[in-house]
Amino acid sequence: MEASKLTEEFGCLVFNDKVMRERLPKDTYKAVHKTIEKGTHLELDVANCVAATMKEWAIENGATHFTHWFQPMTGLTAEKHDSFISPCENGTIIMEFSGKELVKGEPDASSFPSGGLRATFEARGYTAWDPSSPAFIKDGSLYIPTAFCSYGGEALDKKTPLLRSMEALSQEAVKVLHALGYKDVQRVNTTIGSEQEYFLIDKEYYKKRKDLLFTGRTLIGAPATKGQEMEDHYFGVIKPKVSAYMHDLDEELWRLGIPAKTKHNEVAPSQHELAPVFETANIAVDHNQLTMEVMKKVADKHNFACLLHEKPFEGINGSGKHNNWSVCTDTGMNLLDPGKNPGENIPFLVFLMAVIAAVDEYAPILRLSVASAGNDHRLGGNEAPPAIISIFVGDELADLLKSVEEGQAYQSAGKVQMAMGATVLPHFTKDNTDRNRTSPFAFTGNKFEFRMPGSAVSVANANIVLNTAVAEELTRIYEKLESYKGDDQKAFVLSMLQDILSKHKRVLFNGNGYTESWVEEAAKRGLLNLKSLPDAMPYWIKEESVELFTKHHIFTKEELYSRYEILLENYAKSIHIESLTMQEMVRKDLTEGLIAYQNDLSHEAMQKKQLLSASACTMELSLLEKLDAAGTAMQEALEKLAGDTQLAEQKEDGLETAQFYQQTILADMDVLRKYADEAEALIPEKYLSYPTYGQMLFSL
Ligand code: ADP
Ligand code: MG
Repeated sequence: MEASKLTEEFGCLVFNDKVMRERLPKDTYKAVHKTIEKGTHLELDVANCVAATMKEWAIENGATHFTHWFQPMTGLTAEKHDSFISPCENGTIIMEFSGKELVKGEPDASSFPSGGLRATFEARGYTAWDPSSPAFIKDGSLYIPTAFCSYGGEALDKKTPLLRSMEALSQEAVKVLHALGYKDVQRVNTTIGSEQEYFLIDKEYYKKRKDLLFTGRTLIGAPATKGQEMEDHYFGVIKPKVSAYMHDLDEELWRLGIPAKTKHNEVAPSQHELAPVFETANIAVDHNQLTMEVMKKVADKHNFACLLHEKPFEGINGSGKHNNWSVCTDTGMNLLDPGKNPGENIPFLVFLMAVIAAVDEYAPILRLSVASAGNDHRLGGNEAPPAIISIFVGDELADLLKSVEEGQAYQSAGKVQMAMGATVLPHFTKDNTDRNRTSPFAFTGNKFEFRMPGSAVSVANANIVLNTAVAEELTRIYEKLESYKGDDQKAFVLSMLQDILSKHKRVLFNGNGYTESWVEEAAKRGLLNLKSLPDAMPYWIKEESVELFTKHHIFTKEELYSRYEILLENYAKSIHIESLTMQEMVRKDLTEGLIAYQNDLSHEAMQKKQLLSASACTMELSLLEKLDAAGTAMQEALEKLAGDTQLAEQKEDGLETAQFYQQTILADMDVLRKYADEAEALIPEKYLSYPTYGQMLFSL
């Protein structure tokens, strides 16, 4: 793509507002807009007209098929393609696409996880068009973003609850803003920018490792002699092959209307990051799913494999997804922007407090919203925030909150000029917060950055919980505002905020979240440290959680329980596959190398002995002894893992099974890995049928 064509080509594969404005009759365009903005119902004649226009546009752009695109609870996306063709009697065809086909689809839902919401014989499920996220063309098909639900109307996907949570937050925020005198606000929008980390490795290497192929992460592998200790990769020069990949990736994303903005090398070798410009939450989540898919597809073209797992390699950083989150009114006010005078900015203070209260009160479910077998390896590993939820607000906001708490007027220190000691350098003012990479939830100037989500999963869950929890705090604030009958609203708001702050300030922490002393301090403050998914899972169905989600119509009790079952099952299945894969790799691939090397060594030693003397073989014998010891230990650990995995397979209760995988199987795998890695470190590469860490991480 030529740079000069970029403005033209951006979004050229998207049925966006510009295309609709150009192609739809005026009243149809208006009706669609009303649906998008106000969530009103779309009449069939309007849908028919939109469908006909969409089809025409799609065919002009090379599409022969359409598909309802949805996000079932596998965490991936799903699609089933239908062609536009409709045969005529004379053996010819015409191209058809009706309003009905646009609005509703009927995939067989029985093979998607439903957590007991549906028996397999009740196969019917529906997909319903989400007009708020634009349709697009990919690989010759028109993709229509849709929500997915069961015959009984229960949500079976991630989009439906996300949309519900955005609606809930908007409703409660508008009530509060009206009560504060901002009567012109009609809607509040959740905005998300999700920075995406990933690894690129050589495709040929990838194909030779069963662990990467089946589980996305390496299950064995001795560390390379170099890791990330030189700190030379972060923001380092991008290598030409990687740069060519990033270039292609940007172009593909831009054509799909995804505003990819930033690209750079990350901390670990072969690790990189892409950040888009923020968008409305629903679209941002769709775009992130699409970004992950395009990342893999473009990687394949460049002979790379793109790894999105949270912890593909031991001993170096894993990958996350930073969820930048804010709320913005339809009048253009970012409610988390402190502005010039934050002490007087009542909406900002109110929303800031609502977020602080929400994060403290609903910490366990926020932690759960990012829990997965993969992400558990990352959180708390001194590379990502710990599993303890806390909030970093930075010095300026800390001062502001202190004055609120003490009932004092706040004097902003004002903007500080940056002094760099060389007059040729430009003058600029400092930001009002420094960065704190160790905090799971950090205020970053005009938004919060939730840093706990893993790289591979949809960020829908994190935002569902965040939106709903904040909506609940706003409901309570609104009730208090409503009951106040005096005439000094500002003083009342400040005293209310004082109360909220004194109750929730334990969650504020500006220090280093990676230290052991924080773990102790957090325990003293009563903050939970839920290290694994099974530790956190029971909180999902606790009374407070059920009440929160049902009150705001995000999940019914049945939907909550179904997600509980699915998460536990998914966790257990993931580790089960890892266990089997690890056993196979050790038993076959590594053992084969170990035996072949021992064989060569002993032959060589025997020959040497004949030619020289037994004492000439001490090196070989010492090596053989080490290999033998490692092999024996490995064998024992392997049998233990195999035996325990059989026990795990017999368990029935979801939580108990997940706990067993977490406590026993993962521990067995750690032991086996230790011996396997010791053995591998002794074996020359040519004896191994799979590539080593050194080859995978430093060969690009
Ligand atoms: P950093 O590396 O400092 O975290 P980046 O520039 O890589 O910063 O990412 C910041 C992300 O935050 C971008 O995706 C950006 O679009 C997003 N962002 C900026 N403003 C908002 C906002 N108001 N709401 C949501 N996301 C935002
Ligand atoms: Mg960031």
